[in-house]
Amino acid sequence: MIILVLNSGSSSIKFQVRQTDGEKVLCKGLIESIGEPHSTIHVTVDGKKISRKLELPNHVFALNQMVQLLTSPELNILKSLADIKAVGHRVVHGGEAYSDSVLVDDKAIKTIDELSSLAPLHNPPNLKGILACREILPGVPQVAVFDTAFHQTMPPVAYTYPLPRELYKKYQIRRYGFHGTSHRYVHGRARTIAGLNNGSSKIITAHLGNGCSITAIKDGKVIDTSMGFTPLGGLVMGTRPGDIDASLPFYLVDQGIPAKEVINLLQKKSGLLGLSGGLSNDMRVLLENAATNPLARLAVDVFCYRLRKYIGAYAAALGGLDVLAFTGGIGENAAQVRAETCQDLEFLGVELDPQRNQQGSGKESLISRDGRSARVYVIPTDEELVIAEETVRLCKPA
Ligand code: ADP
Repeated sequence: MIILVLNSGSSSIKFQVRQTDGEKVLCKGLIESIGEPHSTIHVTVDGKKISRKLELPNHVFALNQMVQLLTSPELNILKSLADIKAVGHRVVHGGEAYSDSVLVDDKAIKTIDELSSLAPLHNPPNLKGILACREILPGVPQVAVFDTAFHQTMPPVAYTYPLPRELYKKYQIRRYGFHGTSHRYVHGRARTIAGLNNGSSKIITAHLGNGCSITAIKDGKVIDTSMGFTPLGGLVMGTRPGDIDASLPFYLVDQGIPAKEVINLLQKKSGLLGLSGGLSNDMRVLLENAATNPLARLAVDVFCYRLRKYIGAYAAALGGLDVLAFTGGIGENAAQVRAETCQDLEFLGVELDPQRNQQGSGKESLISRDGRSARVYVIPTDEELVIAEETVRLCKPA
């Protein structure tokens, strides 16, 4: 069964075409700068990248051109549009309405739209992708897979903020958590490779990419996660600070910085970029410069220190630790970050094997010493696989 997997943003769409039997990725790609003068569709097939510059004024047009390209004799990925049996969408916010993926119908569209108030930057463009597919692929079933859904098992003690109760009732203010599809995939793999599928398990998954979050999962259920009401909270990220004193934004506004600029500071100029004095939000650049640039060193140190504190906190929440799993661009590739994060965690049964850690990047690998009570893994994430599997599970072939 051939599934189109979409992650639709405001001006870009990431896509994959997947053959679900055999879990084959037929192609993957990116549509960039939709609605801007120079839009481009990039498609990677068998390691070869093809790019087309086109006028793509909106999502309908962009997706139409993309599927035309996939059926073109040159690429020959699909014989015709009828090959696409279903579409799976990444949707950021499912609120409390969705603890599971959903087959898209009018009611789901309305609910996703209503949830836009909780994710104004994400749900509207996700919805644009869904509506565009309705137009281009009429009658083809679509499934929405939510970033928040895996975290809906959190108990009230973890998701409730210590704020006046009416704010939860009136504005649904609570911890939701994000990156759920990635945490779900990595947790599933961790459980399988650690042989914990049939018993109890205490697992921490750390997704460290441009956005970063960490999740505590007990016996298959999320009990806590670091991102909160929005993806701004928790760990240090590329340009977001993670946890800060809640009064800071008001203090800055009182100092005369406009509220919009404060929001911009917190979303685009903080985190690794801010810590490094504007040098970079890219961990690679910071690691390359850490020996000579004190601010690059500080950025790496703060990142790892705060991550280590969360691991300790979540081991306490879980009442122990069987597995710690690293994923995302940083988690999968930066051995130095993994080593610095795990130092002095022997009391939790966490001890990396330096050689395994060095050699473990970019592939599923055990990186801890044998004989310790906790195992540490690198597990490259595959959110698109989860979306494709969920799509197959929920929809009947067209
Ligand atoms: P996204 O969250 O956008 O999906 P990724 O998971 O691809 O992003 O992570 C992107 C980040 O991963 C980059 O900003 C970079 O900091 C980091 N990264 C990628 N490769 C490496 C590497 N070899 N060493 C250190 N960091 C890396």
